[in-house]
Amino acid sequence: MLAPFTAGWQTTDVNPLVIDKSEGSYVYDINGKKYLDSLAGLWCTALGGNEPRLVEAATAQLNKLPFYHSFWNRTTKPSLDLAKDLLETFTARKMAKAFFVNSGSEANDTQVKLVWYYNNALGRPNKKKFIARAKSYHGSTLIAASLSGLPALHQKFDLPAPFVLHTDCPHYWRFHLPGETEEEFSTRLAKNLEELILKEGPDTIAAFIAEPVMGAGGVIPPPATYFEKIQAVVKKYDILFIADEVICAFGRLGTMYGCDKYGIKPDLVSLAKALSSAYLPIGAVLVSPEVSEVIHSQSNKLGSFSHGFTYSGHPVSCAVAIEALKIYKERNIVEKVANISPRFQDGVKAFADSPIIGEIRGTGLILGTEFTDNKSPNDPFPPEWGVGAYFGAQCEKHGMLVRVAGDNIMMSPPFIISPEEVDELISIYGKALKGTEERVKE
Ligand code: PLP
Repeated sequence: MLAPFTAGWQTTDVNPLVIDKSEGSYVYDINGKKYLDSLAGLWCTALGGNEPRLVEAATAQLNKLPFYHSFWNRTTKPSLDLAKDLLETFTARKMAKAFFVNSGSEANDTQVKLVWYYNNALGRPNKKKFIARAKSYHGSTLIAASLSGLPALHQKFDLPAPFVLHTDCPHYWRFHLPGETEEEFSTRLAKNLEELILKEGPDTIAAFIAEPVMGAGGVIPPPATYFEKIQAVVKKYDILFIADEVICAFGRLGTMYGCDKYGIKPDLVSLAKALSSAYLPIGAVLVSPEVSEVIHSQSNKLGSFSHGFTYSGHPVSCAVAIEALKIYKERNIVEKVANISPRFQDGVKAFADSPIIGEIRGTGLILGTEFTDNKSPNDPFPPEWGVGAYFGAQCEKHGMLVRVAGDNIMMSPPFIISPEEVDELISIYGKALKGTEERVKE
């Protein structure tokens, strides 16, 4: 039997579902079957399929200048314009510069190099370690996978890299102590973080990285007061805060950025996915004025930040991203997501009483379902039952694609999803759940 099909390996031996076209919130397979795309591709096609303005933006740029690089003080107008537009969208605090990459993983790898370069420029080369969180996902390259807190990304590859430490996952339902409130749980996690910093030595810790809402780890919104308390600790020890907004940015949570929702004032921000509504690959790192000042100061004797990719600031990707940002603004996408979110959240959470559901959690247009027995985080179903996979297959049968990771189901529909489509999503979810409940009873 072949190993399951995973990203990258392209083969027809394992009978993959081949997606052929998209239309609004839907995709179609090569046999013409239609599916509601409840994950927006991979949390990314924010404007859905076939948005003509993005296609036109790409075509016009392809005709004018399909490529020029951004090295050695050369660049292109779309790259410069996107940097300006993008910096204007981030208002949780002022950001000074944007550095373009091609993906979320590259954004997070770039963060590590930037932070090291920054500390080297400040003459403190030992301040090198990163703290991330258990169950986080920051990407697949060696460093981004190291930052991630998912054992499957580590065990098979001798990761994480030695300079990466992991602190608690902020999942209240799973990890709170008996009688502990969300606020108390957050206080305990902040205390644990401080203890880890003190144990390692504050002078060795360079940065802390967090997703505002954890995505691939199972959709985990932060408990009350969490980021307020974590930020206070990080600040106390002169540790940079990196917000990994790869999933949360541009409206996903009903705010322009996850940082807006949770009062996060980061030093660095990672972006990708909805930046171009995924029509072309592009990611970015936003850098605060304080960090930028050190990096670009005359007294920095390190010379240029020797980093970048052939396709950093690719003009066609940038042209598409500029248009995507314009559309988000013109169509009040953030407000639209905020308005439709209760219908989505309440509609799915109405199933939370199901005996096979442990927890349904989410905010805005992102939602996770965790199947467990006895409604307890400590009673997982035997993995060989494949409860999550069965639910996913039921959804597929009824015409909807969801993300399945063990017994966690994740959804993050396009920002343009209509009220009728949300109702359809809820109806298919209900049918798939009923089928799965019956199967579990057998
Ligand atoms: N960071 C977060 C929060 C993500 O969810 C992802 C991908 O899902 C990444 C980084 C990695 O992005 P990419 O797959 O574009 O490398």
